[in-house]
Amino acid sequence: MNHDQSRSLYDRALSVLPGGVNSSVRAVRPYPFFVERGDGGHVIDADGNRYLDFVMGYGPLLFGHDLPESVEAAVQQRASEGPMYGAPTEVEVELAEFLARHVPSVEMVRFVNSGTEATVSAVRLARGYTGRDKIVIMEGSYHGAQESTLVEGSGTDTAPSSPGIPASFADHTITVPFNDEAAVQEVFEAHGEDIAAVLTEPILGNHGIVHPVEGYLETLREVTDEYGSLLVFDEVITGFRVGGLQCAQGKFGVTPDVTTFGKIVGGGFPVGAIGGRTEIIEEFTPSGDVFQSGTFSGHPVTMAAGLETLRYAAKEDVYDHVNGLAEQLRAGLTDIVEDQAPEYTVVGTDSMFKVIFTRGRPGEGERCEAGCRQNEGCSHFDQCPKTGADVDDADTERWERLFWPAMKDEGIFLTPNQFESQFVCYAHTESDIEETLEAYKTAL
Ligand SMILES: *Cc1c(COP(=O)(O)O)cnc(C)c1O
Repeated sequence: MNHDQSRSLYDRALSVLPGGVNSSVRAVRPYPFFVERGDGGHVIDADGNRYLDFVMGYGPLLFGHDLPESVEAAVQQRASEGPMYGAPTEVEVELAEFLARHVPSVEMVRFVNSGTEATVSAVRLARGYTGRDKIVIMEGSYHGAQESTLVEGSGTDTAPSSPGIPASFADHTITVPFNDEAAVQEVFEAHGEDIAAVLTEPILGNHGIVHPVEGYLETLREVTDEYGSLLVFDEVITGFRVGGLQCAQGKFGVTPDVTTFGKIVGGGFPVGAIGGRTEIIEEFTPSGDVFQSGTFSGHPVTMAAGLETLRYAAKEDVYDHVNGLAEQLRAGLTDIVEDQAPEYTVVGTDSMFKVIFTRGRPGEGERCEAGCRQNEGCSHFDQCPKTGADVDDADTERWERLFWPAMKDEGIFLTPNQFESQFVCYAHTESDIEETLEAYKTAL
């Protein structure tokens, strides 16, 4: 593969963009390929190389790069009518109504412009609503570039994970390991009266993927209820992907008080949203006192893209298609891993997938057929990742330095580190899946 154009573009980029990129994860070493355009389930780079794309913009693209005609038409019409106004439009109401109709926890929604803005606003809302300052998050979790969740450490012994954040921010953030029921119970016994919310992804999608163990989300629901804290699900990745239109909360049957959205809900355009029960969401200004505002919030182009995306998904076999192909992919990967790297773990559900380079002795016998479900009967159970730290302990360097480049050379574009999820899209086909499995066989 020739990468001369990408190399020279990166050379220019390094002079005017920090690290040559606008989002740190894109700075693949030695330099990233620059995308020229998308084509269905593929992307084509600046040197004309073609890759099967499983990054899918890190989650927003459900259909791949060719939008259904209804989505494209709505976007173009909105853009041509003048992109935005600073006054309300009908399409915002329609998208909010759609969310309220399909997502169990949602009665009312505030739209914002990114997942980060959604989690920032949700934390402020939880604090304002409860009159408490502390939040509980999962170790190794990612909720965007926000001050309250960029922390490291465990329990109450936390510190900011980035320079530029006053240490006092971390004083209000408690971390617990995902899937550890005793840890969260203990934290509530000690600090329950001060905890505004537990904020978690229902499946860790930015650090794994890590599936919840049986009963874990229910425990979070019970303990937050008991102490009058809010349960906030960050469904920025899982929303309108896992569990289809009802989201992961519908699939798992656990209804949070507040849900944050992003990615798919904007149909490929910048978006975030905070949804929940009316009495909580109404605490946002102007109906309530918790300040929240935004020039671009509810942007008509984004709202139209999101609405038509979800309408299309409701009408067509989108979720059956992506979930079916991803299941086929995970099942194939499970066989390959058993053959070639039995210590590794295939993870994911619905249209999400990843192979985690777990270390240690493989268990004997049966494993979950198409991605780890934290099945206690599985012989692999003791070493399948249950927390963010378990994923950190994987062979992450091997994944990033050897495996990712090898897959790229096979023409398969994966997320460039061990931690971020990968996605099957509506444009992918069975032969794409077969090609991908062959590439894994070669690269593993
Ligand atoms: C992507 C993501 C965010 C941040 O969203 P941005 O739009 O990148 O700001 C927050 N939470 C989760 C779970 C995410 O996957």
